[in-house]
Formats: sequence, C-alpha cells, structure tokens
Amino acid sequence: GRADWLARALGRAGVMPRVEAERAIRDGRVEVGGRVEREPFAPVHPEVEVRVDGQVRSLDAPLLVLMFHKPAGVIVAGTDPEGVGTVFDRLRAVLPAELQGFEWYAIGRLDRDTTGLLLFTNDEQVVQHGTSPETHLPKRYVAEVAGRPSEEALRRLREGLVLDDGPTRPAGARLLGPERVELVLTEGRHHQVKRMLAAVGHPVKALHREAVGSVALDVPLGAWRQLSVPEVSEGL
Ligand code: URA
Repeated sequence: GRADWLARALGRAGVMPRVEAERAIRDGRVEVGGRVEREPFAPVHPEVEVRVDGQVRSLDAPLLVLMFHKPAGVIVAGTDPEGVGTVFDRLRAVLPAELQGFEWYAIGRLDRDTTGLLLFTNDEQVVQHGTSPETHLPKRYVAEVAGRPSEEALRRLREGLVLDDGPTRPAGARLLGPERVELVLTEGRHHQVKRMLAAVGHPVKALHREAVGSVALDVPLGAWRQLSVPEVSEGL
C-alpha cells in the first residue's frame, strides 16, 4: 500500500466508499494508531492500525478492475443534477456485498446515450493510466450512422481529420453494414466518435463501445464481471 489520506484509503481498501468513510470519520467512529481521527483528509501510512467501530480493518488494497455493460440513459458522473441516474448507482445495484465497500472510479467516460464497455477500478492510478493521452489505449466502437459512408469518408477517418480541438490520430475505420461503422481510436477526446463521423457527413444515431485495450465486452446489458490479473496486466 501507499500513504494516502484516510477516507480515500478506506475506499480503496474496500472498507467503506469515500463519502460514507468521511461521515464515519467525522462521527468519531474511526481510530488511527489508537486515537480517534476526525479529519477525513488526515494522511495515513498503510502500516498503521486502523479501527472502524472498534474493529481492526486492513488498508491493504487489492487492485480490482470490473467491466460493466453500460445501458443508455445514465450518465458517467458523480453528480446528477437532472436526476437521470448515474452509472455508479447502476453498478452498485448489481454488485455483491463484498464489493460494496469499495470506492469505484470509472476509467474514462461514455456519453449518456452510449452503451457498452465501461471499466471501473478502486485504484485512481489505474484511472490515470487508462485515460492518459500518452497511453494510446485502443478503444473500439460501433456506430449506427445516417447514410452509407463512402470509401473516401472511411479513408479520412483512418488518416485523421481536423476537429475544432485539433487533428485526430490515425484510426481504424471499416464498414460493418450499410449504415454501421467500426471505429478504433487511440485517444479519447470529448464526443470524439460523434464529432469524427459528423465531420465526414454521417451523424451518429447510436453508439456502442465493444473493447478497451484487449478487453472485449462479454457481459449482458447492465451486468458486470471482475477482470482477471492477466486481463488487467496485459490488456490495459
Ligand atoms: N465518443 C463519443 O462521441 N461518445 C462516447 O460516448 C464515446 C466516444
């Protein structure tokens, strides 16, 4: 483990999700090294003894990564001003008790109407690796579009085109059906798939993510599974 602040360390170790941990700490339920600690942001060393409600709890955190098949209509955000529902609520609703104590971070984002593979982890460093512009982790999408893209449109998608935030990197692009395109991107700018397809004259009608790195979605809509250690170490 590594040094961290108390509430976050409890969330990563699966003792309690962060917001709950902050409350428990402020309520005086958490002892660090034999003393009640009421500051959620207090730094803690992973070797120190931590008790919650008198019970010793380990701060050792396993590295966990989950795949989740995101339904349409939910947002990938911690706050939900419109009350449409978040993907975090949907995930928690199907997780077993032993995984409820973890704080889950999404690795990247999908739009509200996008379905498909979304990865979650308890480790923020994995989020940083998975979403860093330098990692170039390939992400495979299937888009239903308006109209049939020409060979020329596919070539522009592959070679890169200029969006209002700059040129896109070379991408994989092929036609799967008359109005169905597979796009493989090694970057993840805001609404990138929709903007690229709109730029070549084929607005997206529906979007689905099939794979991230070498991890391909293989659970039904709304379901999850835990990735194995090799899937995480070799796939992401
Ligand atoms: N690109 C988009 O436009 N939307 C997504 O949800 C993901 C990639």
